[in-house]
Amino acid sequence: MTSSSPVLDALVIGAGPAGIGSALALAAVDGLTFGVLERGRIGQTFLDWPARQSFLTPSFTGNGFGATDLNAIHPETSPAFSLGTDYPTGSQYAKYLRSVVKHFRIPVMDEAEVEVVQQHIDGFEVFSARGPVLARSLVWAGGEFAHPLSPRIPGAALTVHSSSTEAWEERPGELVVIGGYESGIDIACHHVAAGATVTVVDDDHPWDAQTGSDPSFRLAPRSRMRLSDAMATGRLRLVDARAVRVKPAGEGFTVRLSDGLSLPSTAPPIAATGFGPGLGPVGHLFAARPDGWPELDEDDQSTVVPGVFLSGPAIRHGGLKFCFVYKFRQRFAHIAGVIGERAGKDTGALEAWRDAGMLTDDLSCCGVECAC
Ligand SMILES: Cc1cc2nc3c(=O)[nH]c(=O)nc-3n(C[C@H](O)[C@H](O)[C@H](O)COP(=O)(O)OP(=O)(O)OC[C@H]3O[C@@H](n4cnc5c(N)ncnc54)[C@H](O)[C@@H]3O)c2cc1C
Repeated sequence: MTSSSPVLDALVIGAGPAGIGSALALAAVDGLTFGVLERGRIGQTFLDWPARQSFLTPSFTGNGFGATDLNAIHPETSPAFSLGTDYPTGSQYAKYLRSVVKHFRIPVMDEAEVEVVQQHIDGFEVFSARGPVLARSLVWAGGEFAHPLSPRIPGAALTVHSSSTEAWEERPGELVVIGGYESGIDIACHHVAAGATVTVVDDDHPWDAQTGSDPSFRLAPRSRMRLSDAMATGRLRLVDARAVRVKPAGEGFTVRLSDGLSLPSTAPPIAATGFGPGLGPVGHLFAARPDGWPELDEDDQSTVVPGVFLSGPAIRHGGLKFCFVYKFRQRFAHIAGVIGERAGKDTGALEAWRDAGMLTDDLSCCGVECAC
């Protein structure tokens, strides 16, 4: 923590890109006291990624020309520059996060899982294994990786989630993947390359999306290229149907589809069905939208408990999803600005984030479509 003051201006929970990025923006506000608590180590989620998994958003050091590296969390940094790769693996990206923390001297306390958060006359009291901390504002940046979603169908417990190491273990024979967006196509291509015959089922058929420029709703170019290579092997099938039941069958499994077909899967079917908001110990401080995601005001703040902010991929405003680093980083400086102004500090230095294309206050501009 940065101050001898018993009450911090802000406490960030989670040291992934959202938490470290938010802390970097808080650090740009002169005089703010803040700190970061992390359950494991800096970039823990990326350290937990299956070893074969890598980013799908490319890194490139375009910073000097106003095109800040898509995976950077500070305007003056670039994972492409520091890692020498364009699609970092989890362990590489964790290394980038550690280097940013070290360079900018961000106060992170690791091995400090936050278990309880209570409202307090001064703001919030946060309890972790390292003892209680008081803060006027909280930024929840605990990510969603700890909240994998299973399909809501009978037999879902027989599936393995695409984020688990088990799902990436190589296996021969036939395999069913439930869910055909990025993570489903990613893991399907991985298993096809390893020799399996894979069927991906999804009644939204995201692989066909032809309209809209937003990568939150259509496959990234790299995924399309990998998909095309996997299709060329003749061992990948994409099925426009919904999985309705998973059952054991002999030494394997079958996945029944909404069109009546049943698909064999020699290994447990893989659920590439995404993640929930994973609000952990701050769940009681947010109201939920009808779709289950946290209700936020225009400052990414809880609508029921002022002073609690959300940073990261769970941010939703209307139909906008902030599920990539280059999207949710647009809000680090905005949140820091709100906290800084409330503390009576000069937030002018945050304009450098806007100049670098890393600060969006006006969310109405995010839905722009590409002409070609
Ligand atoms: C498989 C996968 C691939 C992805 N690929 C990309 C991509 O290519 N490009 C992209 O832009 N985005 C990608 N994403 C999107 C995702 O938004 C980011 O990868 C990123 O992990 C989100 O950052 P975060 O900081 O919100 O969460 P995390 O990186 O999950 O960080 C959260 C941190 O909070 C800690 N924590 C959680 N609970 C507590 C607690 N109670 N107390 C203390 N600490 C806690 C965790 O240990 C963790 O270190 C991908 C996501 C997944 C799951």
